[in-house]
Amino acid sequence: MNVLVINSGSSSLKYQLFDMDTKKVLAKGLCERIGIDGAVKHTAWDGRTYKNEVTLNNHDDAIKVVIGLLTGSEYGVIDSVKDIDAIGQRVAHGGKFKESVLVDDEALAYLRTTEKLAPLHNPPVVKGIEACKKIMGNVPQVTVFDTSFHTTMPEHVYLFPLPYELYEKYQIKRYGFHGTSHRYVSAKAAEFLGKDIKDLKIVSCHLGNGSSITAIKDGKSFDTTMGFTPLDGIMMGTRSGSIDPAVVTYLIKDEGMTAAEVDSLLNKKSGFLGVTGISSDWRDVCAAAEKGEHMAVVAKNMVAHQLRKYIGAFAAAMGGIDVLIFTAGIGENSDQMREIGTEGLEFLGIKLNQELNHNCPRGELVDLSAPDATVKTLVIPTDEEYMIALDTERIVNASK
Ligand code: AMP
Repeated sequence: MNVLVINSGSSSLKYQLFDMDTKKVLAKGLCERIGIDGAVKHTAWDGRTYKNEVTLNNHDDAIKVVIGLLTGSEYGVIDSVKDIDAIGQRVAHGGKFKESVLVDDEALAYLRTTEKLAPLHNPPVVKGIEACKKIMGNVPQVTVFDTSFHTTMPEHVYLFPLPYELYEKYQIKRYGFHGTSHRYVSAKAAEFLGKDIKDLKIVSCHLGNGSSITAIKDGKSFDTTMGFTPLDGIMMGTRSGSIDPAVVTYLIKDEGMTAAEVDSLLNKKSGFLGVTGISSDWRDVCAAAEKGEHMAVVAKNMVAHQLRKYIGAFAAAMGGIDVLIFTAGIGENSDQMREIGTEGLEFLGIKLNQELNHNCPRGELVDLSAPDATVKTLVIPTDEEYMIALDTERIVNASK
């Protein structure tokens, strides 16, 4: 079965075509600047690459370009659109959906109602689904949600201490995100350790431009740092993470900012960028700290402190920790983050083999634990697209 995985953003559309029989990526690419002007980059499995500016007025145009590239004679990997058996759509916010689902009229109608919960992330997904339907007809589509892994959180964990009617009326609660990644790496960890995931207490640190940490107990998400939106939790590239909510009302009431301005400040101008004034990119922050830039040193100390705090908090909440996972851009690649984020956690049994940490091979699962550590610290490359393709294959096969 060939599965096309699509990740639609407001002005971008990423794709990967998987051959699920061989588990091979046949092609992948990115359409950017949709609705602005348009650019596309496409790479076939054998390295043939197409990069160009192409007019992309909307997501329909982007899907047409993708299909053209996948089936074309020069950069193509399949003969025709009929060779695409199913489409997997990544969705940030699944609202009530506990699992990935086959898209039918009812599911699409519900998805539209979640646009209010994720105004930046979900409307482009609906556009992507509609574009595929228009251009590819009845090819089955499956939606895979970043939130669904976290729907196992218990009531006392997902509820905010707000008047209960806000939950009843507006479904305001902790949803959590990056679920596909946390699900993938925690399953990989259990497989690598040869253990049943139900017997492991795992803290999974997805640290990238957006970051979240999840406590996984009995094989299920038990708690996570992101909340009602992906703004909560640990500080990120441009997002503040958790702050005292009274700062929001102070800025609006006392400093005259609008709600939209505060929203933009917290989502786009905070985190590493806001603290350092230099960059949202972790590599830039580390380079600046190296040169002695005070606020870059402070930002590093801040994120390390928060990471240690969350690891400790989740270990306490689960009554222990067996496995600590690092994944995503920073988690997989930054020995510095792994070192400073676990410093002093020996009392929990977390101890890294620092030599291996500093020379950690890229792109593979690595066990970084020191021989006398009681907690396994693993670096695991995440693969959300593959997980989406797997769910899509399973659900489409089950529906036949
Ligand atoms: P992601 O959102 O998962 O793509 O992660 C992006 C983040 O990963 C950025 O802050 C990058 O600075 C960081 N990153 C990527 N590669 C490296 C690397 N080799 N060393 C340190 N950080 C990296």
